[in-house]
Amino acid sequence: MAIRLDESGVLRCVEWERLEWLEHGFGTRRSEGWLPAESCADLVQVHGAGIVRAEAPGARFREGDALVASRAGLWIRVRTADCLPVLLADERRRAVAAVHCGWRGVRLELAAATVRRMGAEFGTVPSDVLAVIGPGIGACCFEVGPEVASEFQSTFPERDDLDRRTKLDLEEAVARQLAQAGVDEGRVARARLCTHCGAELFHSFRRDGTLGRMEAGIRVTECP
Ligand SMILES: [Zn+2]
Repeated sequence: MAIRLDESGVLRCVEWERLEWLEHGFGTRRSEGWLPAESCADLVQVHGAGIVRAEAPGARFREGDALVASRAGLWIRVRTADCLPVLLADERRRAVAAVHCGWRGVRLELAAATVRRMGAEFGTVPSDVLAVIGPGIGACCFEVGPEVASEFQSTFPERDDLDRRTKLDLEEAVARQLAQAGVDEGRVARARLCTHCGAELFHSFRRDGTLGRMEAGIRVTECP
């Protein structure tokens, strides 16, 4: 599956653009404020494992790092700058999810937990799930100390360097966890874009230390 940058500066999965019941995108520095704030549900993100079902816009007082929804017209959004935004869509049940995955969220296997939560909330079967892993800090730049690296031994059993300073591929980790949760590998799109390398398009907390964030969002469209 392919990702393209559209004329408004939003990254979109080409295959998903063909789904008439779904809208989605990953904002960049060229598309600040691309989501209609008054129609968005979001969270106070805390790098935890909290998953919230959204029924109405707003609710920023709620803490959590993943949203699930099926209400037509309601955008759910996460904000990132190096952390990975992950969007999920259940074609059969017409339900969606937005996940904020920093290294803590990856370690907590939040994307896989969100697939299971969609099962509990909407009856989602993992084989019906489509996923897009958006832009985040890449394996080229995400260097961590042994205290973080060693947390990922079960995710990367083939590696023997996680007891020292090294680099981690969080996108690959999320892809493996989605596969373990039952999502077909061929239904997972990966942006393969590093926010730390891509200063023109992306905010990067590690590079800039600023508060700039990109917004990723998804919604079930309203019936015409
Ligand atoms: Zn990089």
